[in-house]
Amino acid sequence: MRLQVIDHPLVAHKLTVLRDERTDTPTFRRLTDELVTLLAYEATRGVRVESCRLRTPVAATSGVRLSSPRPLVVPILRAGLGMLDGMLRLLPTAEVGFLGMVRDEHTLAASTYATRIPKDLSHRQCFALDPMLATGGTLAAAVELLLGRDAHDVTALCLLASPEGLEAMHERLGDVSVTVVTAAVDERLNDQGYIVPGLGDAGDRLYGTTD
Ligand code: URA
Repeated sequence: MRLQVIDHPLVAHKLTVLRDERTDTPTFRRLTDELVTLLAYEATRGVRVESCRLRTPVAATSGVRLSSPRPLVVPILRAGLGMLDGMLRLLPTAEVGFLGMVRDEHTLAASTYATRIPKDLSHRQCFALDPMLATGGTLAAAVELLLGRDAHDVTALCLLASPEGLEAMHERLGDVSVTVVTAAVDERLNDQGYIVPGLGDAGDRLYGTTD
């Protein structure tokens, strides 16, 4: 597993505003969208392209276009949905699959309640969207599902990651074709499985729910 922490002043600025408890839901949603687009720029650096020929209004030339099969973008419900538009802004022709996962509040174990993903992902590059890599259980299960369907590689975009979650993913997944792209690795997880200092419950802050 590879880890890429994006070191950019705009990323750091937007993340700081997201962390602030005074940031309201509409602002939180807009900044998440912008931040994901910045992360997506780096996360798609390895996206496969093929060369092609074309004519400009002036002359014949060559260029590149995205290879077939199209990349698959998979938001992990619920909070990953808030990252979808920011990702599709850079990859508008990607196919979108959905994975509904929930973690038990007490055991923190992840379970899957909905899967809308093509059965055969051979040769597909997959991008999983999950804002908070906390225990790593949800994301590891999602990666296993995608690689189990023969995905070529998986890139996970997370706003924040915890050291414990990254370590757990590394131990569980071993040496597979997975890259985690994040804006920051925070200090630690607390007893409730929240990232510290973190930004709170990403789903609640995106959707304005409080219980
Ligand atoms: N999920 C969240 O939304 N926030 C955390 O800090 C951890 C998991």
